[in-house]
Amino acid sequence: MLMRFDILTIFPEFFGALPNQGIVGHGVVSRALRSGVASAHIHDLRCFTHDRHRTVDDRPFGGGEGMVLKPQPIYEALESLSLLPRSQRPGSGQAVILLSAQGRRFTQSTARRLATLQRVVLLCGRYEGVDERVAEMLCDEELSIGDYVLSGGELAAAVLLDATVRLLPGVLGHADSSLYESFGEGEANPTVPVPAPAPAPAPAQAAPAPHGDGWTSEETGPKPNPEPSPGVPRSTHAASGILDYPHYTRPAEFLGRSVPDVLAGGDHLAIRRWRRQAALAKTLANRPDLLLTAELSEDDRKYLASLGYTGDAEAAGHAHSR
Ligand code: SAM
Repeated sequence: MLMRFDILTIFPEFFGALPNQGIVGHGVVSRALRSGVASAHIHDLRCFTHDRHRTVDDRPFGGGEGMVLKPQPIYEALESLSLLPRSQRPGSGQAVILLSAQGRRFTQSTARRLATLQRVVLLCGRYEGVDERVAEMLCDEELSIGDYVLSGGELAAAVLLDATVRLLPGVLGHADSSLYESFGEGEANPTVPVPAPAPAPAPAQAAPAPHGDGWTSEETGPKPNPEPSPGVPRSTHAASGILDYPHYTRPAEFLGRSVPDVLAGGDHLAIRRWRRQAALAKTLANRPDLLLTAELSEDDRKYLASLGYTGDAEAAGHAHSR
């Protein structure tokens, strides 16, 4: 099923064009658009103005710095897409989204939800923002890509487009690739026993296999036989809400640093175990807040405890916000 994106902006060139310009012309997004899994339509808000200067903004009521995007061109742009004000249009299967620093935080789980829709409209603000009646009456939701202020919504729209498109069926190599990456929902391989805490992974002597079975490239798509052989670990295996594990490729030694021995050893069980522990260690170091909601096995918890994690929600939260 084709998913349709409409992007409303005063800088349509920002998004580029097929075959090789901007976000729509590169990588996974370009591949998805060319293969017909999704379509992206970029609309210039200035085409919906009626004055000689094609004015999209005006001064703020109440005074203050900067200009505000007017509601009328946005209303007309949406009308041209047969999108009525929110109270009058059918709710399901589509979302009109205002990119805004004041919005709810966009996360991987938001991307998963958007990827189930047939149509997503992304409205890019500029200047001091957008007349509030647009959020109140024309949009379904406001989304922010993080706690910082961008000068325009275009980068944020590009982030939403990319993160959502790559989750559409058939876009990534394996059907379940997106389950087994950072923030993924995939199982944490509960059947594999995790032994007592291991010391920090030792340097490798031998070169790792260049790519495990099931290797795919996000840019070029799946290799001819992308299914992993039985017993061979997936190329991505972290998941269950934590960060991905560290990846290595050739050369086996780089600037004096070797890849971990275990990855070159061919013991798939040991590789799985190492990857799970490395993913846990990385999550603890960089995003301990994720451990609060991740699905953790008893072995995971033991390993984390060996690294000093107490499971204290508040401590983890503070550590991350510092
Ligand atoms: N006055 C606004 C505020 O303080 O929240 C900032 C406006 S910003 C300079 C202009 C536009 O950039 C916004 O209307 C929005 O579309 C976009 N933008 C800025 N930060 C964003 C963020 N974190 N996520 C999504 N969009 C953002």
